[in-house]
Amino acid sequence: MANPDVFVAGAGPVGLFSALSLLERGVSVDIVDALGPHLVRGYACGLQPGVLPRFDRLGLLRPLLAQAHRIDRLALRGRSGATCWVSFDRLRGDYPFMLTLRQSALEELLENALAQRGVRVARHQTLQGISPRDGRVQVTIASTHPARSEPRLGPPQRTTRESAFVIGADGSFSACRKALGIDLVELRPPRVFAFYDFHADLSRCQREASISLDGGAAAFWPLDERSGRWTFELNEGFADEPSLGQLRQLLRERAPWFVPVPEQLCWGAVAEFESRVARRFGNGRTWLAGDAAHCATPIGFQSMNQGFCEADDLAGLIAATLRGERLVGAFAEFERAHQALWRRLMGVGQVAAAAREGRADPRAMPGPSVFAHALNPGSTSPGAGTHPARQPATPHSAVRRPRAGTTGRALAT
Ligand SMILES: Cc1cc2nc3c(=O)[nH]c(=O)nc-3n(C[C@H](O)[C@H](O)[C@H](O)COP(=O)(O)OP(=O)(O)OC[C@H]3O[C@@H](n4cnc5c(N)ncnc54)[C@H](O)[C@@H]3O)c2cc1C
Repeated sequence: MANPDVFVAGAGPVGLFSALSLLERGVSVDIVDALGPHLVRGYACGLQPGVLPRFDRLGLLRPLLAQAHRIDRLALRGRSGATCWVSFDRLRGDYPFMLTLRQSALEELLENALAQRGVRVARHQTLQGISPRDGRVQVTIASTHPARSEPRLGPPQRTTRESAFVIGADGSFSACRKALGIDLVELRPPRVFAFYDFHADLSRCQREASISLDGGAAAFWPLDERSGRWTFELNEGFADEPSLGQLRQLLRERAPWFVPVPEQLCWGAVAEFESRVARRFGNGRTWLAGDAAHCATPIGFQSMNQGFCEADDLAGLIAATLRGERLVGAFAEFERAHQALWRRLMGVGQVAAAAREGRADPRAMPGPSVFAHALNPGSTSPGAGTHPARQPATPHSAVRRPRAGTTGRALAT
């Protein structure tokens, strides 16, 4: 098997997008994932206006538009109702809208696009180690065929591969990040969120999302005319599984202005989200993107959307390096820009300023500026979009997968 130019670890949305962006730039790629296909999950369900040009450049906007749901404006509300609206058509650019679709559908779309370009995800292949070798990177992979997933059935088969670069898009517990010895810096305390995907008649609000900051962050995202997602920040997790009754109670308490009546719950989860950014986005020939490099609250879909920007920027830098272009300081600039962006997104300056001025700690709630950034990721990062440059920091975002008995349980039907 020929060694690829780039080895991508992790076939979540960011890893798949990395592979597509590399291929578009003429870079050969192998992509592996520790797990099998067909995960049914809702998770991040929104694409912000700022990432749509990148999807368009890869020829992915048309299939996305065929499947996704278009959101034209965002209402910022208090408990009693609307306070102000953000219309996406006021944004500069050709994509004055957001798109919502479930993460599992997005992953399927990206994986199909990859297959059409002749690249298949190698499943049940776990990256275990990375070491530099003669100006390249050697990766160690353990093959864990489903039938071997029980440890007592024998040790997994190990192989080594070489590539010019590695992109670690292997999620919160990134083996790539650990192999580089990069830790995560906590920027805000962890917070617990409950997710409810439900069916209801949403015909009167199908193009409008809502974010409320009253009594904790909460967001409503229509997924189509008949289904939507509510996300609520909680003071603590529920002991019970997410239920229709809980959703209705939260709506009465926190969003009494929401008129549609949820009729059926189709997916729910409670999970704790840390707010962390990797101390570095990478090193030498191994770089991190997405949840491997950061974890943010789910309200504005920042971690995934910013992950697409990081992946795309990295693909550009790597392609230019492989073409033999001398990019003096470009990876360092990538690191600097993405670190700075994440600190702004997480309101680090606001916290320090509040402490200096003796004001209340604003960490309890994300400020509207956080959402403003969230709506247009990459807009403040140099080189975003067309030019290959910048680097991702080593994230370590810790979305902890929902765990029964701690923060709550996932419910999938
Ligand atoms: C219950 C829940 C609800 C969520 N809801 C939201 C939301 O509403 N909004 C939002 O913005 N975000 C949400 N998220 C977070 C969102 O899912 C992530 O931000 C997003 O998946 C990040 O994409 P990624 O590709 O960076 O990482 P991931 O999606 O985590 O993908 C990483 C991939 O790497 C693979 N992998 C891991 N280790 C290895 C290894 N050693 N070798 C090979 N492969 C490996 C994994 O199997 C996985 O497929 C939610 C998460 C959870 C758990």
